[in-house]
Amino acid sequence: MPNAKPIPYADDVRPQDTEKALKTLTVSLVPNEIKPKAIDFGGRCPRCGDPFQHREWLVVVAAALKLNYLHMETLASGLDEIGIDRSHGDHTVDLTCSCDAAHPHRPKDKRGCGAHFRVRVTWAMAMAVKLEPPVGLPTAASAAEDNAWSTLVSTQLDDVRKTAENWRNGLVALVGAIIGFSMIKGPNDVSGLDYWAMNTVGLLLLAAFGCAISGTWSSLTAAFGSPSTMTRDAFHDQGGMDGYRLTLATDAATKLHCAQVATIITLVLLVGAVGLTWYGPRAKAVILDVGRLSSPNVCGTLLSSSNGYIDIKPSESEAVRLRMTDLATLTAVAKCP
Ligand SMILES: [Zn+2]
Ligand SMILES: [Zn+2]
Repeated sequence: MPNAKPIPYADDVRPQDTEKALKTLTVSLVPNEIKPKAIDFGGRCPRCGDPFQHREWLVVVAAALKLNYLHMETLASGLDEIGIDRSHGDHTVDLTCSCDAAHPHRPKDKRGCGAHFRVRVTWAMAMAVKLEPPVGLPTAASAAEDNAWSTLVSTQLDDVRKTAENWRNGLVALVGAIIGFSMIKGPNDVSGLDYWAMNTVGLLLLAAFGCAISGTWSSLTAAFGSPSTMTRDAFHDQGGMDGYRLTLATDAATKLHCAQVATIITLVLLVGAVGLTWYGPRAKAVILDVGRLSSPNVCGTLLSSSNGYIDIKPSESEAVRLRMTDLATLTAVAKCP
């Protein structure tokens, strides 16, 4: 019941507000007590007695993804598995009255009566969620932390999308590198490789290309979202704007994660392809510079030698058969002049 004459606004911390909140507030978990996403507070403000409503989000999707292997694996097993098991919890929250009553002397940018109070919410398997006496009172530091958390809740989607955009840029650069390697450097660098190694390099590059493309697509949809329709009821069921943003951010984070995995796989495939190009087995060719008595030198790869003849394959022309008795000099060289 709203007070006929509202009490004046005051934002000092009083222990009795925290004590009284145990009786005046109600608490429930959203959407359930097995995997709650948020705590809903209701009832009345312990100081002014006006109706009180606040939803405290327990999870946000953090975009600051430090990429170590463990994180990747944790992410892979699903966002719900991140962090602690949420089927039981012990959560201390500092709340500020946000009632709609017009409390006198209130600064323009504030709401409520100014009361700050601390509540402790506990829940466990097969036990209903309940309020318990908290330890301590709200402080300036805890209020700052609560503000930071609220900011995180409201900016999570933007953060994830920004991160996804950076990954997309990286993936696009990777695609460029693969195309450059295949089209410009590739044919020269793989020449001389054994047949199977050449084919493997080709397959690795193709797989890397496919991987990078699918990763780019994932990061694009993570960064810019994919259009869909939603009813007003569904919007409310998700917990209003913050819940909606949580759903979108979760979705974006899952796609971002796909993009990250695709990037890692692309890199591994690329390293494999480049490594095989550099160190893969090559047929050992002997290049000979042959000086003849009567004609100019012939330089090329030694194909065979038998019965007094040698076959040399110059790089520019057909193989030449030379009689051994014609030879004046025979020099192994690294490269023909
Ligand atoms: Zn009030
Ligand atoms: Zn109040």
